[in-house]
Amino acid sequence: VLPLIRFDLLGDTTHAISTRLGGVSRPPYDTLNLGYANQDDEVNVAANRATFLQALGVDTALVVSGWLSHGTEIAVFPAGEADRWPLSWETMRPGGRRRERLFRADAAVTDARGVYFMLTFGDCVPLLFADRRHGVVAAAHAGWRGTAGSIGPAVVRAMRKQFGCDPADIVVGIGPSIGPCCYAVGAQVVETFRNRGAIHQLECRDGLAYLDLWASNERQLTDAGIMPGSIENARLCTSCRTDLFFSHRAENGSTGRFGLCIGNAPDDDG
Ligand SMILES: [Zn+2]
Repeated sequence: VLPLIRFDLLGDTTHAISTRLGGVSRPPYDTLNLGYANQDDEVNVAANRATFLQALGVDTALVVSGWLSHGTEIAVFPAGEADRWPLSWETMRPGGRRRERLFRADAAVTDARGVYFMLTFGDCVPLLFADRRHGVVAAAHAGWRGTAGSIGPAVVRAMRKQFGCDPADIVVGIGPSIGPCCYAVGAQVVETFRNRGAIHQLECRDGLAYLDLWASNERQLTDAGIMPGSIENARLCTSCRTDLFFSHRAENGSTGRFGLCIGNAPDDDG
């Protein structure tokens, strides 16, 4: 059985976060590398993606992947308007052969059934959103730039504006990512968060500044109207747990990516 991270609060919404276990890639991508943006063999990555999606019961053909820009753009996929979805078929890396359905954004939201978002991570914060009353799901990739740009609240805004969601109905899962134990940051990041008035999310130890991306995202989400009890944080540090996850920081950039998948299952009668 493939190990998967799931959130109780997301209930029966189809979702999971992968670990690095159970795949076919060789070091330093061992073994379940889901990211194409490295030197791993594309055939292995495709096989690993299929393994992850199969464990979730998700049809590979229904998956759309994010092409990350480390910004705060949100791709919106309204049901019944599939012709307007911000999708393109593109090769996953320069000179690569594999073409995937991609959206160029760090977050995506939909009320459609039968579409699943996949994003990949190697320290940045995975955010998974669901409003079961409106059947809306969303996913976001919040690194320090996305967090500084308040990508979580931007997703909540898009869910309200596009689909009429009430923040009180929205539940959020915060996935494995680099924790306040390990995330030493430089002057540029310190300056950015200080300017945002988020100085309490920085801690100085042994002459270094550590940023708490978890606290920062939680605070932004509750400020955006999410109930504190509606946020579930896995509190797993990727840098501490390279036995389970890929960590760009802990592995000096030479590593793979684990991923999240979230979506609404297709209609049974569809
Ligand atoms: Zn840590």
